[in-house]
Amino acid sequence: MDAGRTPDDRRTHLRSQTLESLAVWTAKRGFEDFRASQVAGWIYNRPLAPVEAMHTLPAAVRAALTEDFVCSVPGLPGNQLSVDGTRKFLSQFEDGRIVESVIIPRDERLTLCISAQAGCAMDCKFCATATLGLLRNLEAGEIVGQILRAREFSAGHPLTNYVFMGMGEPLANYDRLLVAIEIMTARWGLGISPRRITVSTVGLVPQLERLVTETNVNIAVSLSAARDELRDRLMPVNRRYPLAELMGACKRLGLPKRKRVTFEYVMLAGVNDTKRDAEDLIRLFHGLAVKLNLIPFNPYPGSGFERPSDEHTRDFQERILAAGVHTTVRTSRGRDIDAACGQLAAASPPRDQG
Ligand code: SAH
Repeated sequence: MDAGRTPDDRRTHLRSQTLESLAVWTAKRGFEDFRASQVAGWIYNRPLAPVEAMHTLPAAVRAALTEDFVCSVPGLPGNQLSVDGTRKFLSQFEDGRIVESVIIPRDERLTLCISAQAGCAMDCKFCATATLGLLRNLEAGEIVGQILRAREFSAGHPLTNYVFMGMGEPLANYDRLLVAIEIMTARWGLGISPRRITVSTVGLVPQLERLVTETNVNIAVSLSAARDELRDRLMPVNRRYPLAELMGACKRLGLPKRKRVTFEYVMLAGVNDTKRDAEDLIRLFHGLAVKLNLIPFNPYPGSGFERPSDEHTRDFQERILAAGVHTTVRTSRGRDIDAACGQLAAASPPRDQG
């Protein structure tokens, strides 16, 4: 695990450190033990700030931190507010890479949508992020940094839910994701209950099984087709982990401790939204306690897909509801600022943003 690595060889991110790895560091550096939790307090319980601003730390500790870790605070090259209150902001890291995060208010909830990678290698045919390819994995500290930034935007109105539904495939960046979740949920870290965290995945089966045994976060699986032949085309990952294997794994996920698995289904007009598709879905879910979340396709230039009508979406939903499957439709948020599901595709800063 990254956070357990001592910073001898390559500098790791300061905000990728666990209390344990900070304690290893203070011992190695010959600083007092309590400095480890003091540093954790500065990096996880305060707004994003450079090491120079950590004024209760002795100068020698601050100097050692900047020597041993990557301490830079992500830049904020873009920040847009949608007419519906959804905010999209960009984080730019020291190598120039940019990811998007989205803050979504709804009723009493304030949900943060987090990115786990810059770009994505999964190549889902209906997703704008896929057009970037994988640029790189994010460090745990870069994942955590998105949350700290979002907390600044939502000051006075705390975030209530954290979903890994931004750019990238979180389970393809498994080790760093695990460190980020440790930092997010630890008392010395961000103090978030794992019940408030959801990891969404295309269905990387081995990592999915690990995540369930190693954490208590919620799981969402992006399905988007109920037959292998169709899912192979829409989501190439299906050739590696076909539906029988994926659904078999979901059945073994250790329910009911973690309630039901959520499945997401992007609805593509005329492609996966027919009566037959509804029937195949019902059959696929047989014997499994699931929640199905239908996401009407959000268009982006050159996608080649269309969004079904609201009426058609409702009919599809009702057909599945009639079979006793708990089914909801996700109302898309932030579409005017390209912040909705599948629309995240920033590779460089937008020109008109400051
Ligand atoms: N890679 C993970 C995390 C991204 S979550 C995953 O796929 O689960 C993003 C969600 O938005 C996924 O459920 C995905 O299927 C959905 N999505 C992708 N492109 C979309 C689009 N153009 N319109 C609506 N939903 C989309």
